[in-house]
Amino acid sequence: MSIFSTDILKNTDAYVPGEQPQDKSYIKLNTNEFPFPPSDKVKSVVSDKKAADLRLYPDPTCRVLKQAIAENYGLKDENVFCGNGSDEVLALSFLSFCKKEDVVVFPDISYGFYPVFASFFGLNYKEIPLRDDFLIDISDYFSDCGTVYIANPNAPTGLALSVGQIEEILKNNPNHVVVIDEAYCDFCDCTAIGLIAEYENLLIVRTFSKSYALAGARIGFALGSKELIADLEKAKFSFNPYNLNRLSIEIGAEAMKDREYFEKTVAIIKENRQKLTDDLRKLGFLVLDSGANFVFAKKDGFDGEQLYLKLKENGILVRHFGKERIKDYLRITVGTKEQDDALINTLGRILK
Ligand SMILES: *Cc1c(COP(=O)(O)O)cnc(C)c1O
Repeated sequence: MSIFSTDILKNTDAYVPGEQPQDKSYIKLNTNEFPFPPSDKVKSVVSDKKAADLRLYPDPTCRVLKQAIAENYGLKDENVFCGNGSDEVLALSFLSFCKKEDVVVFPDISYGFYPVFASFFGLNYKEIPLRDDFLIDISDYFSDCGTVYIANPNAPTGLALSVGQIEEILKNNPNHVVVIDEAYCDFCDCTAIGLIAEYENLLIVRTFSKSYALAGARIGFALGSKELIADLEKAKFSFNPYNLNRLSIEIGAEAMKDREYFEKTVAIIKENRQKLTDDLRKLGFLVLDSGANFVFAKKDGFDGEQLYLKLKENGILVRHFGKERIKDYLRITVGTKEQDDALINTLGRILK
């Protein structure tokens, strides 16, 4: 820390992203990226003309992207907010909806960025323990004491709440925003988008990083009532009006419009997830039922960190978290059949 740093900066433990090694090539199953390239339509955006156009500022309203998203979900433009990755959308939601006198709540085992944002923005927060089976007890979220953050499906467990359960949480927090982070929702059937019309306190946060194979383009969005979206727009225009670059706005719109490619590739990931789950269970792993593009697994008698290190030595990256309750688990991104088979074969050798 420099002698100039603020207390808030000193007291915040920054988020630690999964490894992005730049030296050698790994079979990379550690940050839930999509193993296939994005839609071919994306390539049409990257042209000489578009490169020359980079001298101009982008559209601060992200109109073409917003329209493509709204159309896909049968919503209006006024129900859509676009951000530089969903991390930025989440950050702006903390700034817009979490009040100093409130207590922000989220599960103890969930997306690691929630406590970082809460700390960085100087907010009170409470991490509510998941049940022993790693499910969320929804009644723990009925106190209406502050903004609720729930990833659905949850990360890193992959377990999902039903739409009915989300609705119960919304009903029991009439005075606060409930943010449902649906980063992985395209890999299951649990979206709460159908509740937007009825609940003005519902904000859904989504990303192009996982199911659209565009982690490198940094495109995220939020869906919600006109009032919540207007608040996010105000926050953005008080912070970074040109938050999406010219290329990403168009790339996102093209990817969203190519439904055929999206559906085809997401279906393959779901198939591969089932196969990976079955294969890991055959090796004696306990694997949670995942609604996401990763699985969360452990094997009795084996140390999670050791397994992670052994896999890394063998050129395969998975994610390991040091947190006590989950230290023996590995979070493994669903890859191509070939990548998943390589993982299973390598694990088989390591376990012997
Ligand atoms: C990956 C992820 C994000 C961040 O996505 P970006 O759009 O790449 O910033 C947000 N929430 C959860 C739960 C995630 O897993």
